[in-house]
Amino acid sequence: MSEITTFCHSFKKDFTPRAQNPRQPVRCWSEKDVLDGTIVDAYVIILRTRGCAWALSSGCTMCGYFNDSMLTAVSDEDLFAQFETAMQNYKGEKIVKLFTSGSFLDTSEIPAPLQHKILSTLSQNAEKISVESRPEYVTEKSLGAIQKNISLKKFEVGIGLETSNDLVREKAINKGFTFQEYKKAAALLKKHKAHVKTYVLLKPPFLTEKESLDDCIKTSKDTAPYTDLLSLNPTNIQRHTVVEYLWNRNQYRPPWLWSIVEFLQQSKSITDAFVKCDVVGGGSIRGPHNCGDCDNKVLQAIEEFSLIQNKEVFRGLSCRCQEQWRDQLDLESLSFGSLVDFTRWNP
Ligand code: SF4
Ligand SMILES: [Zn+2]
Repeated sequence: MSEITTFCHSFKKDFTPRAQNPRQPVRCWSEKDVLDGTIVDAYVIILRTRGCAWALSSGCTMCGYFNDSMLTAVSDEDLFAQFETAMQNYKGEKIVKLFTSGSFLDTSEIPAPLQHKILSTLSQNAEKISVESRPEYVTEKSLGAIQKNISLKKFEVGIGLETSNDLVREKAINKGFTFQEYKKAAALLKKHKAHVKTYVLLKPPFLTEKESLDDCIKTSKDTAPYTDLLSLNPTNIQRHTVVEYLWNRNQYRPPWLWSIVEFLQQSKSITDAFVKCDVVGGGSIRGPHNCGDCDNKVLQAIEEFSLIQNKEVFRGLSCRCQEQWRDQLDLESLSFGSLVDFTRWNP
């Protein structure tokens, strides 16, 4: 095990999961999304499975999804009961996003027959079904069986590539797979007529704001031939993670909302993929934020851009804190590591 792998593992060793009901999903809600250029309703379901296999062995530096997982086996019957509970609030939304805080295609989380049963139930109404998976579970066998058993109108698989840079992915994120493996999975998805969504991580630990922004923009270029949708995932501080460890020591600041705006504008000119960003915890101290005064209007513009893809939504956005953000981009590389978050600095 490398040092970063051991470090990530250390956060799970002494972790006691909260008592959870194995028949209740983590959460489900309705939101806006885009289907073939039209804004429609989407229903999001997060199932509580055993958890991501990678998180169980070590996990990624920023990911606290295991906080929501059972960490022990969940029976097929309980998993289906969760799905049925979630479906009680389904109102026929055209898009269904079905997440597990891990990999939907991993049969140790959701056995193949149950994957098929759930997908086939959803395909009766939904026009697009979106799931997530690490690339190792995107196989000829898993995709072939889905294609053979279910007639899906539009099937999308999201992969958390995070960056096209193997060194950053290995050392700063501890992701456990390579860009080559992502490309292979993306090609296989295309072969099976599925759509590819790629998650890109803004501000992993150990990178400055500028290094990460440049890395994300380069990733848009490198993934352009493989992905249909590029979803920027700005880091938020999740519990029991390396990122939280650094943040508690004032050695990490979540990304600026200005960096998200910059990424969306630049990426749109680089790739033909649909480019979006769902900001989790935006404007809060643990989430991506600006000065506090402008956060709401910038978040609103990011949300709007993510639906309509028009850079005009950012025109006229400005705030005194933009200068501070620019200074950080210029000066942080001269400091030893990431700058502290002065908005929460209270010596
Ligand atoms: S980010 Fe994805 S692959 Fe990494 S630990 Fe979390 S769920 Fe697993
Ligand atoms: Zn501001």
